[in-house]
Amino acid sequence: MIKVGFVGWRGMVGSVLMERMKEEKDFKGYESLFFSTSNVGGEGPELDFPVPPLQDANDLNLLSKMDIIVTCQGGDYTNGIYPDLRKEGWSGYWIDAASALRMSDESVIVLDPVNRKVINKALKTGIKTYVGGNCTVSLMLMALAGLFKAKVIEWVSSMTYQAASGAGAKNMQELIRQMFHLTNSAKDIINNPASTALELDSRITDELRSGRLPAENFGVPLAASLIPWIDKAVANGQTREEWKGGAEANKILGTKTPIPVDGICVRVSAMRCHSQGLTVKLKKDVPLDEIQAILSSAHEWVKIVPNNKEDTIRDLTPVTVSGKLIVPIGRLHKMTLGPKFLTAFTVGDQLLWGAAEPIRRILKIVLESGKGMGKD
Ligand code: NAP
Repeated sequence: MIKVGFVGWRGMVGSVLMERMKEEKDFKGYESLFFSTSNVGGEGPELDFPVPPLQDANDLNLLSKMDIIVTCQGGDYTNGIYPDLRKEGWSGYWIDAASALRMSDESVIVLDPVNRKVINKALKTGIKTYVGGNCTVSLMLMALAGLFKAKVIEWVSSMTYQAASGAGAKNMQELIRQMFHLTNSAKDIINNPASTALELDSRITDELRSGRLPAENFGVPLAASLIPWIDKAVANGQTREEWKGGAEANKILGTKTPIPVDGICVRVSAMRCHSQGLTVKLKKDVPLDEIQAILSSAHEWVKIVPNNKEDTIRDLTPVTVSGKLIVPIGRLHKMTLGPKFLTAFTVGDQLLWGAAEPIRRILKIVLESGKGMGKD
């Protein structure tokens, strides 16, 4: 029987993956083994079949017995294990949520509603390493898939509004602790009907600047503020998160001539879901109704939100989209810059299409292909 090893299944991405796999009844037709880097022998996830105790995620001998390894553990784990496994001749499938192998020549970045053809070709040619894309990039491509497919995009600028949970569980907790701290510090003002908004603003601003807010993870307050910097600096004044926009989007699309994608990535105090304000330079003046038809016909998860206040504030926010697979795109209109300039706003759950869902689906695609597992 085919053996699938799961590493990093209890982290944020891993637990969303487990939830989705349970919902879709994916755990069948193969033997599942669960690994841990920190709790060997402990209990695995709660599933509707007996799960053996956790295996050692650093045991190369055991890992090499897997036909497929799915990891949501993180880049350090991938960098520490993957090269040695391959060096020792392991030829199984490696499916990974971390960024470590995304730009490697031996990997394909997976987002099958957008690049199923690239995946099919890779499977045929014997590629065995499949990596989920950067969350913001994947969500932008899910929203604009139709226009990319129609080859009418000259370039895209994406200004992002990225949720605290995109930085990990600890950061998400820190945001709420900051909010709690701020609320507590102004309790007397909030509870006094005679107090003024200026008093409240002054108290909160003083507190934000006091150095008293918990900020070990973000470094500065995110609550009641924002942070226009994500990840480390790279060349040209970009951050690595911004660099991924162009590099990963073009690798996912398999473009021969790269389509420029650039912008500024900003952390905001949303809990979950990454939002993006997009400027798209079109190659020609495509009428807006045609653009909407092209966008909505790309795949079943994209949803056009009419450009009016009522629909926008109801359907185009992290509050609405969190935990859902839909990727709404709205505020669509031609800009005053000219008829080839389109603007739009999109929101997507970065833990679903931005992380766990492409991983869940590539596992199914690999299993169904049967390649390298006795069926080809
Ligand atoms: P995470 O929540 O920090 O989990 C990663 C691993 O940390 C867990 O699987 C677990 O491994 C270990 N861990 C240690 N203490 C833990 C605790 N108290 N609770 C849960 N797990 C704990 O990381 P993540 O956000 O899932 O990200 C995993 C990878 O996916 C990263 O490479 C990240 O860049 C990438 N990614 C993340 C997102 C996102 O939105 N968060 C989106 C796209 C891609 P053991 O069981 O082995 O100890």
